[in-house]
Amino acid sequence: MSEKRDRTAWIKGGDARCEAPPRGGTRPYRLVLLGAPGVGKGTQAELLCERLGTCHLSTGDIFRAAKSLPEGERSPALEAALGYMRRGDLVPDETVLSMVSERVNCLRCPGGFLLDGFPRTVAQAEALGNLLKREKLALDAVLNYELPLDQVVARISGRRTCSGCKAVFHVTTRPPRAEGVCDHCGAKLYQREDDRPESVRVRLQVYEQSTAPLIGFYRQRGLLISIPAEGTPDAIYQRTLTALR
Ligand code: AMP
Repeated sequence: MSEKRDRTAWIKGGDARCEAPPRGGTRPYRLVLLGAPGVGKGTQAELLCERLGTCHLSTGDIFRAAKSLPEGERSPALEAALGYMRRGDLVPDETVLSMVSERVNCLRCPGGFLLDGFPRTVAQAEALGNLLKREKLALDAVLNYELPLDQVVARISGRRTCSGCKAVFHVTTRPPRAEGVCDHCGAKLYQREDDRPESVRVRLQVYEQSTAPLIGFYRQRGLLISIPAEGTPDAIYQRTLTALR
């Protein structure tokens, strides 16, 4: 079973620290992944992190981890956030931004970072820009994965997520070695609540309305690299590496 990077500081926030943070050394990449839900950002993030040594910073993973906290340990803002998430709606900017600001150490990670699912609105992108400026850090690129809508829906409906390490599989295009079991940590795979059809419809509308404007936002800043997200995860990954060179 392959080892996954320790992401304790990102997932838990507060004073939590990673036991084995990346040592850096090679060039730290600082990237943002963009694309509609279901284009395969999570899978590309995993492949890229293995290759580039960056840390996978997914805001969705923070919310999913919070779901397993006992109810008394969730703040009212977090409790409300989980409601938005279940419906497939965006969590308010204020909640997301306070979560990310609390984890600013992860942006300073010597191994670099790969933001997945953040920013998702122009207000979040502007706030990220300010945070990075304050830290004297700059993004290397924003990778924008593009896929026709019917393929997006097919990908989401077959997606399965590991209940342990959060690795992402697909029943046809990226099946685990044993059905329903994670290749990395052996935990059970499940279908995310927000991957069900009623939530998927909302998520796609929300993407068009709130997140798609980020394509223009980052193009204007000379950071956007668009990548066709058709084909196998490996083919998309090779395209990504070529685009990054
Ligand atoms: P994801 O795994 O990135 O698709 O995120 C799952 C869900 O978490 C989204 O559908 C939103 O409800 C919520 N979420 C994650 N990241 C953000 C964000 N940056 N802004 C608002 N909501 C978010």
